Amino acid sequence: MLEIRNLHVKLEEEDKAILKGVDLTVEAGKVHAIMGPNGSGKSTLSYVLAGREGYEVTEGSVTLLGKDLLEMEPEERAAAGLFLAFQYPVEIPGVGNMTFLRTAYNAQRKARGEPEVSAAEFLKIVREKAKALKIDAEMLKRPVNVGFSGGEKKRNEILQMAVLEPKMCILDETDSGLDVDAMKLVAEGVNALRDAGRAFLVITHYQRLLDHIAPDVVHIMADGRIVKTGGPELALEVERNGYADILAEVV
Ligand code: ADP
Ligand code: MG
Ligand code: MG
Repeated sequence: MLEIRNLHVKLEEEDKAILKGVDLTVEAGKVHAIMGPNGSGKSTLSYVLAGREGYEVTEGSVTLLGKDLLEMEPEERAAAGLFLAFQYPVEIPGVGNMTFLRTAYNAQRKARGEPEVSAAEFLKIVREKAKALKIDAEMLKRPVNVGFSGGEKKRNEILQMAVLEPKMCILDETDSGLDVDAMKLVAEGVNALRDAGRAFLVITHYQRLLDHIAPDVVHIMADGRIVKTGGPELALEVERNGYADILAEVV
């Protein structure tokens, strides 16, 4: 699904290397988690995969389903099946959630050469997805994220993901501000959308989220590299002992 080879990234503005040779392969149907101390480059990795401006790839390659991801514009990446759930979902006053979602949905269809769907057709699609996830579709009538509680923002994110039907889902969770209920929501959403043709990369600072998601593979990132890879037991080790032992072992 996703293949990252020797990825080096620096800030465009200054000569500061942030990713220093990331290697990562995520297979279809799997949930991979990335943990790591603050500042290790986890969010930078997700931004670079999504095509955010301000970063320069100096070495390495990334392919999504065999296609060169780094060559694509952000919209093309989304159309190719990449989805990034943001750490801090943006508020867009004046733009209804439903309109926002339909615009994103139709942009994807257009990029794939498929006809756009009407508001009425889209409403049907969304209602179906919302029902399957037990999410109240009323929420969609409100402006994007404005006045949403933390839990509602998460619900909205999961619904976006369900509607857009991405192949490769990246969730970057700060955990700070994510209470237990919101965390369960995210986990339930991921679990409901797990599929043989879909993969997840769940980035998280703490182990708690992974209690509910049960990842197939856990990676530890430190100083711009994946320094250790293992099973779910690796997350438990971090929970018990922090990162110090693991980092001492690999440096
Ligand atoms: P993490 O998500 O693992 O906490 P980040 O990817 O946010 O790590 O950050 C990695 C490092 O890159 C940090 O040292 C951070 O200060 C630096 N960094 C990331 N983006 C920028 C930026 N736009 N300007 C300056 N420094 C940045
Ligand atoms: Mg951080
Ligand atoms: Mg981060």
